[in-house]
Amino acid sequence: MANYNKVSPELVEELKKAIPGRVFTGEDINEDYTHDEMPIYGAAKPEVVVEAQTTEEIAEVVKLANKYVVPLTPRGAGTGLVGGAVPIHGGILLSTTKMNKILDYDLENFTVTVEPGLLLNDLQEDVAKKGLLYPPDPGEKFATLGGNVATNAGGMRAVKYGATRDYVEAMTVVLPTGEIVKLGAKVSKTSTGYSLIDLMVGSEGTLGIITELTLKLIPQPKEVMSMIIPYVNLDECIATVPKFFQNHFAPQALEFMERAIVISSEAYVGKEVFPKTFNGQDVGAYLLVTFDGDTEEAVMDVVEKASELVLENGAMDVMLADTPALKRDAWAARGSFLEAIEADSKLLDECDVVVPVSEIANYLGFVNGLESKYGFKIKSFGHAGDGNLHIYAVSNEMQLDEFKQKVDEFMKEIYAKAYEKGGLLSGEHGIGHGKIDYLETAVGSVTFKLMENIKKVFDPNLILNPGKVCYKV
Ligand SMILES: Cc1cc2nc3c(=O)[nH]c(=O)nc-3n(C[C@H](O)[C@H](O)[C@H](O)COP(=O)(O)OP(=O)(O)OC[C@H]3O[C@@H](n4cnc5c(N)ncnc54)[C@H](O)[C@@H]3O)c2cc1C
Repeated sequence: MANYNKVSPELVEELKKAIPGRVFTGEDINEDYTHDEMPIYGAAKPEVVVEAQTTEEIAEVVKLANKYVVPLTPRGAGTGLVGGAVPIHGGILLSTTKMNKILDYDLENFTVTVEPGLLLNDLQEDVAKKGLLYPPDPGEKFATLGGNVATNAGGMRAVKYGATRDYVEAMTVVLPTGEIVKLGAKVSKTSTGYSLIDLMVGSEGTLGIITELTLKLIPQPKEVMSMIIPYVNLDECIATVPKFFQNHFAPQALEFMERAIVISSEAYVGKEVFPKTFNGQDVGAYLLVTFDGDTEEAVMDVVEKASELVLENGAMDVMLADTPALKRDAWAARGSFLEAIEADSKLLDECDVVVPVSEIANYLGFVNGLESKYGFKIKSFGHAGDGNLHIYAVSNEMQLDEFKQKVDEFMKEIYAKAYEKGGLLSGEHGIGHGKIDYLETAVGSVTFKLMENIKKVFDPNLILNPGKVCYKV
């Protein structure tokens, strides 16, 4: 186990020489750097913050962290949900947000090369102007691409197009020893030894700092149509999901949501889009589905077939989001679920298990049945199309200690059930610090040991992002 030193005045001086004007200490450290978007896992103030602008600067900072044996935490926009970018052992916090440029488009090879601090939103807008699409579409558009790659972010379109991993062709990385390596290439396939680029994707800033990314693009689908499908209850709603795939409908996005969460999100964004009753009956749950394609006829053909299918299988109605405003408002309500839950709750914790699509209905029935056992509210929504469920425990009554203890028992129980059903601990948010205690059970002790050993090979002094993923301090 590493024995870390405190950041000394000598180290701060050396950092200031390497990164002039962008080293901050004491009162000059912005409070944002002390937490991410899931405060239940705790806040921690870094001893020094460095806002780097080049790969070489980052290599210098990493070398200094080794020389002085202080922890170093990489950080993008801090929108993570598992405490991954929180410097729980103090030390240096390295922000990439000043490295936010689009460096180069290669339109012959359909790639774009970017700096890691570029925001997803800025990339999505820029590629759209060129008639292209960067398919990964996690809910938080103001995350960095470096953070997205480091967490292998998923999002709405993963059901059709895959997660961030599927769009990373090459990257430059500063290793925890300070060496700079280039991984991958602008090629669409490779069998060139162990895939270290794949190891780096989803490594949550524990194996290296990503300083440049070459990402794959695709032509933008010309036509997109969304449907809001209300159901009497969640069971019937979720039971339809596998039928979309059995019928080869290939939705671009397929999200489920419960009535209560929709109502609080609409109140949060100040716009009502989703129907609440149909023929005098209350709506209990919804699917929000998007189809895309190159012609209106092709998209409308699948929309019609999907409408027939869902109406034959328990849907109360089908509402087409056939104006840009309606589509935008429906997806804005979906995009604000987390903020809406936060606004309504004093205490909240979350998990993002992923289970086989065929098991979602059963699994959610089990989870929702635990509400009275634990005494807090359980709210869920998620990417129904890929089995990735966001399950929230929320309370306005419990004290923090009791809540944490109850949530821990709850998480253990629902994770165990997910594994029994063939699922995994996290579909997209990662492990970070918040889920570290559950990883060994999830993957088994042999696999966990392999992960620990990989960490030691990359980071012999164990300075990079300690206390995250598989390295407990
Ligand atoms: C409202 C909301 C909705 C969300 N929806 C989704 C969703 O649909 N899908 C999804 O997957 N996530 C979602 N998230 C979670 C979050 O946005 C993602 O995890 C995102 O990828 C984090 O990016 P970031 O730039 O904020 O990274 P940070 O939070 O700053 O860091 C996340 C992790 O990446 C590491 N890291 C950051 N940059 C680098 C780098 N350059 N090199 C190496 N390591 C690095 C950090 O050390 C940390 O471990 C959501 C979050 C919010 C608040």
